Amino acid sequence: MTLTLQEYCSLARYHTFGIPAKARWLATIEAATQLDELKAHPVLSTQPWLVIGGGSNLLPTQDYPGVVVRMVMEGKTLVRENDDHVWIEAAAGENWHAFVQWTLANGWYGLENLSLIPGTVGAAPIQNIGAYGVELKDCFESLTAWSKDDGHLFTLDREACAFGYRDSVFKHALKDNAVIVSVCFRLSKTPDVKTGYGEIERELANTGIRQPTPAQVAQAVIHIRQRKLPDPAVIGNAGSFFKNPVVAQAQADLLSEQFPALVRYPAGEGRVKLAAGWLIDQCGWKGKNMGNAGVYDKQALVLVNRGGATGAEVKALAEAIMASVRQKFGVQLEPEPIIL
Ligand SMILES: Cc1cc2nc3c(=O)[nH]c(=O)nc-3n(C[C@H](O)[C@H](O)[C@H](O)COP(=O)(O)OP(=O)(O)OC[C@H]3O[C@@H](n4cnc5c(N)ncnc54)[C@H](O)[C@@H]3O)c2cc1C
Repeated sequence: MTLTLQEYCSLARYHTFGIPAKARWLATIEAATQLDELKAHPVLSTQPWLVIGGGSNLLPTQDYPGVVVRMVMEGKTLVRENDDHVWIEAAAGENWHAFVQWTLANGWYGLENLSLIPGTVGAAPIQNIGAYGVELKDCFESLTAWSKDDGHLFTLDREACAFGYRDSVFKHALKDNAVIVSVCFRLSKTPDVKTGYGEIERELANTGIRQPTPAQVAQAVIHIRQRKLPDPAVIGNAGSFFKNPVVAQAQADLLSEQFPALVRYPAGEGRVKLAAGWLIDQCGWKGKNMGNAGVYDKQALVLVNRGGATGAEVKALAEAIMASVRQKFGVQLEPEPIIL
């Protein structure tokens, strides 16, 4: 399979914020061997690389001067099974939501709460995607990655991936070096639904479902997300723009005294996770615009492209929000998408 290369290529179709930006080179990767080809290329091997999947966690603020490496490899394999579990390997370019729905249709459970998250399987470990009380790491077995340093494939288990809240080794020690080519999941043959998350409970109660199947939990999650989050095909965005900040218990207690309605969750080891959306909302940002960038009317955590926004406009809005949250609550927000 020959490597597909484009020059001065618009990235508009390859990310979800709808912001104009170009890649000096775009390489479309359909097989791991094409990464070897890219590494052997006399010019491209010396350029910076940006690996992307569906571009749903990116904010481009300028043209990318190097090689955008777009992972489109497909394939799903049942690697092994026993009475209780299956081990499924999926290639990096598989669409995440389609993969989740495929596992459910086969009677393999565990990923239902992660339905409708945009993007690819290969990107899911990067920030240990999570939603509605479940994180990727809960069903993760291992992954295979390709090293840009030496061109070798290597395998990492869950411990080696050092998953944390929207975090993994790929944001630290392996940043810019590992290209994930496939991910292996351990899924259960027996349903064990997680409905403890308030919104899911309410959604199921409203539809009169008492003992939901995993497919019904997935459907509930899909309905909640469709109501609450903007569809990137209609309005450009990258989902939650900020991580929920995790602070020391003492700081959270002081804030709770000052702001009794503070939304907080235990985060273990004397730490407390605060709801970034609530903090932003309290600063009056919901529904506000700065230039062509805005804060989504239904969810203050989501920044949107109101039409014709530049990456710089979205970044300036994010910085203004961070400054007001810092000023009002003394809490530092951290952006979740990769800002280029
Ligand atoms: C409407 C909306 C809702 C969202 N909801 C959630 C949510 O509930 N929970 C959540 O966690 N996230 C959410 N996100 C963020 C996003 O969907 C996830 O981060 C997703 O995993 C990104 O996948 P992607 O393929 O689009 O990655 P990209 O945006 O293309 O890339 C993201 C990062 O991963 C790296 N990367 C991508 N593929 C690879 C690879 N194969 N190997 C190595 N590095 C790679 C990139 O370099 C970049 O650093 C949401 C986004 C949107 C637009």
